[in-house]
Amino acid sequence: MVREGLVALNEFMDIESALAMAADRLQASSDSARLDAELLLSRALDVNRSYFFAHPEDTLDPDASKRFLSLVARRESGEPMSYITGEREFWSMNLMVSPATLVPRPETEILVERALMLIGRSAMLRILDLGTGSGAIALAIARERPLCEIVATDLSAGALAIARQNARQLDIANVSFAFGDWVDPVKGQQFDLIVSNPPYIADTDAALTQLRHEPRSALSAGDDGLDAIRRIAATAGDVLAVSGRLLLEHGSTQRDAVAALLQKNGWSQIECFNDYAGLPRVTSATRPNSASRMPRG
Ligand code: GLN
Repeated sequence: MVREGLVALNEFMDIESALAMAADRLQASSDSARLDAELLLSRALDVNRSYFFAHPEDTLDPDASKRFLSLVARRESGEPMSYITGEREFWSMNLMVSPATLVPRPETEILVERALMLIGRSAMLRILDLGTGSGAIALAIARERPLCEIVATDLSAGALAIARQNARQLDIANVSFAFGDWVDPVKGQQFDLIVSNPPYIADTDAALTQLRHEPRSALSAGDDGLDAIRRIAATAGDVLAVSGRLLLEHGSTQRDAVAALLQKNGWSQIECFNDYAGLPRVTSATRPNSASRMPRG
């Protein structure tokens, strides 16, 4: 069924009117409706956005209209722009994404910044990224610190395939990928730094409805959203070198709960950093020493 407002978007419509109408339709589902409309039309017409400024009065042929309509409908249903275009910019890298991967968020760049502050420019460290998804964090660190060796794990084969493609496309060779659950695939190895943006939304959080196009396993983690962080707090110390650090992204309301969890597992020097919106987003901690993890009594 053709949606009412879009009936008018027929073969006689010119570019500017098509954009105005699509932007209007996308208003409810996007906070960048006009930009989305332009990106979708540039995709439907296979032209650069600058074309629209030069040719606002060009009329769309029926095939182009149809392609544009179908892209607008997908966006209107809440599908992220990145899945429609197949790409997302992160740390100035153009990353491929798919419905198997979370769409990298700008706030995750805080985690990358914090990691880079801990790694000297000429350091030759081993770094582990847990639940890498599209590879965003691992690839950003690898690119900025070419002498470091990064291992990135994920429990999604689909995500790892995308991450590997991204590494190849960006010509980043100092990252390797391992399939498996959190630290499982690297048991017995040692790293100097562990980073992760794990799922941290509560299973019952209404926000998940809005995020329904993204993989559940990358977003939600138990009743309190802390199941993945609990696992990491309990196991990351096993593959971390003495005085190594852990950097974790988490929800803006989870600062104290994350700190308590880390403390319980013997982590020390726990510190939280805010994201660009001023919300607590990334917590850093130093490896639990074996004494603090010995059973008591
Ligand atoms: N920051 C993401 C969001 O709220 C969640 C990402 C995650 O769970 N790791 O949309």
